[in-house]
Amino acid sequence: MMRMEVGSIVEIADLKSATHLNGSSGKLVRWLERDQRWAVELLALKKTVRVKPSNLVLLHGTKPTRTVLDELPTASDQVVRLRGLRGASHLNGTRGLTVKFDESAGRWAVRLDDTHQVVNCKPENVSLVSVLNRVLDGTPTEKNTRAALQFDVGRRVECINYYKLPQKFEHGTVAMTWVREKSWPDGLYAAYKVILDDGRHLYVRNNKKYIKESTAPPIDSTTYEVGDQVICQVPQSEFSEPGIVIRRNQDWLSRGVAPYLLKMNYGKYLNFWPTSQTMKFDDDKCEGVAVNVTDRLRFKVGERVECSVGVDFDPGTIVQLWYNDESQFEKNEVVPYQISLDDGTMIYAPEDTDNVIRKSDRSPPPCWICFDSESSTDNPIVRECACRGEDSGFVHVQCLIRLAKSKVPHLRSNPDVNPYKQCLTCHRSFAPFRLCHKALTKESYRLFGKEDPMENILAQASIDAMAELLKEEGFYEGAKLLLLDSLQRFRDIKREVEGLDTFMNDILTTILIKIARIHAETRSLVHMKICLEECIELADEFNRSGFDIKSKGLVPAKYNLARYASYTGNDLNALKLLEQVIDTEKKEDPASDHHLNALQMCAALHFRLFESREKCIELLAEENDLQKVIYGSNSWEVRLSKWQLEMLQRGDEPQVVVIENGKVWLGLKFADLQDIDRS
Ligand SMILES: [Zn+2]
Ligand SMILES: [Zn+2]
Repeated sequence: MMRMEVGSIVEIADLKSATHLNGSSGKLVRWLERDQRWAVELLALKKTVRVKPSNLVLLHGTKPTRTVLDELPTASDQVVRLRGLRGASHLNGTRGLTVKFDESAGRWAVRLDDTHQVVNCKPENVSLVSVLNRVLDGTPTEKNTRAALQFDVGRRVECINYYKLPQKFEHGTVAMTWVREKSWPDGLYAAYKVILDDGRHLYVRNNKKYIKESTAPPIDSTTYEVGDQVICQVPQSEFSEPGIVIRRNQDWLSRGVAPYLLKMNYGKYLNFWPTSQTMKFDDDKCEGVAVNVTDRLRFKVGERVECSVGVDFDPGTIVQLWYNDESQFEKNEVVPYQISLDDGTMIYAPEDTDNVIRKSDRSPPPCWICFDSESSTDNPIVRECACRGEDSGFVHVQCLIRLAKSKVPHLRSNPDVNPYKQCLTCHRSFAPFRLCHKALTKESYRLFGKEDPMENILAQASIDAMAELLKEEGFYEGAKLLLLDSLQRFRDIKREVEGLDTFMNDILTTILIKIARIHAETRSLVHMKICLEECIELADEFNRSGFDIKSKGLVPAKYNLARYASYTGNDLNALKLLEQVIDTEKKEDPASDHHLNALQMCAALHFRLFESREKCIELLAEENDLQKVIYGSNSWEVRLSKWQLEMLQRGDEPQVVVIENGKVWLGLKFADLQDIDRS
């Protein structure tokens, strides 16, 4: 038998207090004689903890069998998901509520959400849906009424933000009590909806473990009026910054928006959730600061404008007001306009003033369908496909909708082109989330969203596109509902239609991957994990059935599950999944991003877990060869990974760094990076 010794890889188990650490893997650093404990360096969290030997399980390079996430139910009325059933395997993945535990039979009675059927399952086939159980209380009844709630709407609280690891308390304000989302099991409510101080929403149970009183000052939405000059502690700056209130939302709490929109003196517009400590009247306000004290913008969506680009003003059309792009700005920052210029570029206007953006009388080129060049806010002329050349591709949004509809009867003869998604001339998809794409997506969902997906090929495409649009607009719950509905529809088809059963798996996995992405975005990581695991089960079953094609869902599911495993400290599990991804992609699609990323992560994990320089070099060399084929041998990617390889071959110490969401890379220090000529 193996002994625990310095360097052994272990998994933490059965901790009673720091339960969030159960399931994490770590490395033994030294034995602490006085404490009779091991110092364990956690592999994911980059910190060292002291643990009794009885709470450590030696890992022999096998997959850890237990994680904190596979909890077992402990009482009735808990939300569970069925898994691993062999007989009634069609029930795997379905959700239900525990009714009671039958001691003599050793089984849980579970009432299923969708059919209300009660089934008896062994404990190992029932897994707790952890996040939901942390959110949901029973129905508000007499002994469990509003009066029984400790916190009223408007009260300041601290609550567990379980979407973040490690979980910690964050300040917020109670926005509603006894709320439920449509997708939750019947009869279950969350006691509180809380708006955190950064604007995010959270559902919380009526339980001291998850919510407690806060001594933080309240969010102040009453003291300041539009036009007041203030100084505030904004997240963007370490100093207090002066600004002016240009919009005030007194009903911010019920609408879930920011109480104030501020125009900062340094030029930016910010959404702000102030307290008495973070915002004050500006006593040294400079008189006559030239600021436009209004949140009303001069132009509407679809209006013709010209925008300053260097020396010239170029004509274009407004496509969005109060625009925020999190990839370019901070989360709370907005700009007045996003504009599509007639030459096809997208720009934004940081200010609503004539020296940046002004009204234009210049007409756009004429619409290629109706030859008219009249552009209005109701029916603007835009160009959002890849048609180029003078004047080509410009089109009225309404003309496009009419054209798409006229093509529907001929779809069967040309099923590869979807007129609700692509330009019929250049065949490229319309630019995502711009005017054409949005209008066509909504129209196709209105026309086909409710139709039978086995009859009409546009039905599922329209649901997918609509869910994507809802997700982009921040309506995650709505997007999830649409996808869950179509998942259910295909599950029914799979059950009912003879001969189609396994073939349906491929469609089910693509929908599950989409749902998993939404969970990832809303940080419901446990839900994401459940979706991905079901994906893998279905895809495996599909691949075993001997169809000519391989399941499209397997690789993305395994890759994302690996990132999750690494994120939650199960590096060994991550490694195993990544090796499977590499095996598959080598045969199926060597040039895929998943393959390249998996090689990088695998190399980093081998180094972190086993300090195995050779294996690391082998994997990176493989990546390097692939990159040469994909990007060309003198590309930046190839030179970067070659440089990494040389560093390892020289015997240098690479740093293993974790980038967001459990993506593990071999890190390079910034100074080193500058040595590589990027040009
Ligand atoms: Zn037209
Ligand atoms: Zn086109």
